[in-house]
Parts: sequence; structure tokens; C-alpha cells
Amino acid sequence: MQILTAQPVTEKLEQELRERLRRFQALTARAPGLAVVLVGEDPPSQIYVKRKAERAMKLGIQNRTLTFPATASPKEVFEQVKALNQDPSIDGILIQRPLPPQFDEAAVLTWIVPEKDVDAFHPENAGRLFLGLPGFEPCTPAGVLKLLDHYGIEIAGKVACVVGRSSIVGKPMAALLLRRNATVIQCHSQTQNLAEMTRQADLLIVATGQPKLIQALHIKPGAVVVDVGIHRGQDGKVGGDCDWDSLTKVASAATPVPGGVGPMTIALLMANTVLAAEKRQGIAPH
Ligand code: NAD
Repeated sequence: MQILTAQPVTEKLEQELRERLRRFQALTARAPGLAVVLVGEDPPSQIYVKRKAERAMKLGIQNRTLTFPATASPKEVFEQVKALNQDPSIDGILIQRPLPPQFDEAAVLTWIVPEKDVDAFHPENAGRLFLGLPGFEPCTPAGVLKLLDHYGIEIAGKVACVVGRSSIVGKPMAALLLRRNATVIQCHSQTQNLAEMTRQADLLIVATGQPKLIQALHIKPGAVVVDVGIHRGQDGKVGGDCDWDSLTKVASAATPVPGGVGPMTIALLMANTVLAAEKRQGIAPH
């Protein structure tokens, strides 16, 4: 089984980004700016935010992290996001999820102006994606496609099954696959007989948050499997939504966890930030 590791893909993408950043700096005499908003002390979120900041710094993207206690009021966080929306040195903003319960998720989706919404969660960006109009693409599904393209895995005409229908992974993943001319099956927690659906797929993409949900019986022999899930087990080991031993026996290629979709997501966040900056400066078309 071929292991679809992110490293060669992120290296190539970052090389391209460094070129674009050099050009941006030469034309504007500044670096693009990314602001990350973190509310509360959720340990995985703290790790993700730190990784994003490190990646940005390494590439030469200005990075600002705004942290708030878990008890912060939505109003005080919104005021800060509004200030970032208006700050000319900031090109991209993201609000790390999950948010504490006092936050209304639907309302938060509209806080960041669409042109700085590098996670592509704003309804305008989500709508553009579904209509096939240009706009930002959400980092995780866009990262999955970049990974598949790098390894020369065909999408057009293939049967692709997406397990999961969240707004940040499953739904946009299906929309992007459809745009790339796959025949798409979308499964979720109420799908009857999951294995019957997933076994039809040449390309199986799993984003459920259920450790080892996908076993050998779910996989069509020779299928390509992308595991979006990330879990830390009680033994401290990190794994995904798929049982790795089953993948090695049945799939022709699969992404590892860690080292697969996770690094792609961060790389695509950097790419979206550079694109946002180029668009705001008129270097890239809107
Ligand atoms: P979510 O909880 O918002 O959505 C999970 C989806 O899985 C739901 O649509 C649900 O219907 C479906 N589901 C749950 N149990 C199922 C079952 N038994 N059978 C079929 N479908 C089932 O989660 P999410 O935000 O989409 O994230 C999913 C996983 O991906 C999590 O492990 C998360 O940590 C991970 N994730 C990884 C990255 C990355 O960069 N690698 C990014 C985002 C999310």
C-alpha cells in the first residue's frame, strides 16, 4: 500500500508560497498578516494555534494570536474581531473552534469579513463554493485535493464516498469532489449500512471523529483512503478514523495519521492567507 504522506506536498507548496511572498513584499513593502483568535484553554486547540503560528512565522507571514479566557463574553471577542476586520495590516483572520457554549456558532460565522475569512466558513464563501464561484476553499478539504493531485490520484469519473457531513470538512469535501467530476456518495451518522455505501468507493474520505470506525469490511479492494480524523488514545498514540492494519491489507493507498491531512490543512491556511493578501493588494484577481 502506498502511504500518502504530506511532507513532499507541503514542501513543494511552501516553496511556491515563498516565491509569492517575495513578490508580495517587493510590491507592497510589507508581509501578509494572519490573526488567530483563541477562546478558552482547550489543549488540542492550543496546540493547533501554536502550530499555525509557527508555520506562519517560518514562512515570513506576520502572525498575531489573540487569546481570551473561556469566560470571555461574545461581545468582547466580537469587538476585537471587528478591529481586525478593519486593520489594514491583517489579511487573514480565523477563530479557532470549538468555542465555549456562550457563543452562538451561527452568528460567529458572519463575524469575519468574507475577504479575510481564510478558513472559508463565512456563508458567502460557503455559498460561493457550492455555486462553483471563485472564493476561498476550506483548508482541510482543499488540502485533501492538493494531496491527491500531488500523488496523481484521479478524481474525475471515480466514485468518491465522504463519511461525515460537518460544515468544515464533510460538506465542502463533497462539493469540491463534485466540482472535480467525481460521483459522490455522502454518509453520516444516520446512514443505514455504512459498509454497503463505503465499499462502492474508489476514493474513500473519512471525517467522523470516531476512532477506527472504518475497518477492512468498509473498503473496496484497491481503493484510495483519506483519513481526516485525529485522536489521541489513552496510550498517548495519535490515530485516525480508520483502522491502519485494515487499510494496509485492502487499500491501494492511504494517508497516515499523523502526517497526512493535518499538515495539509495548515499548509492550505498559509496559502489562503497569501491569496487573501494578494487579493486585497490587487495582485491576484478577486
Ligand atoms: P464533526 O463532529 O463536526 O462531524 C462528524 C461527522 O461524522 C458528522 O457529520 C456525523 O454525522 C458523522 N458521523 C459520526 N459518527 C458516524 C458514524 N458512526 N457513521 C457515519 N458517520 C458518522 O467533526 P469534524 O469537524 O468534521 O471532524 C471530524 C474528524 O476530523 C475529527 O476527528 C476532527 O478532529 C478531524 N479533523 C481533522 C482536521 C485535520 O486537519 N486533519 C481538520 C478538521 C477536523
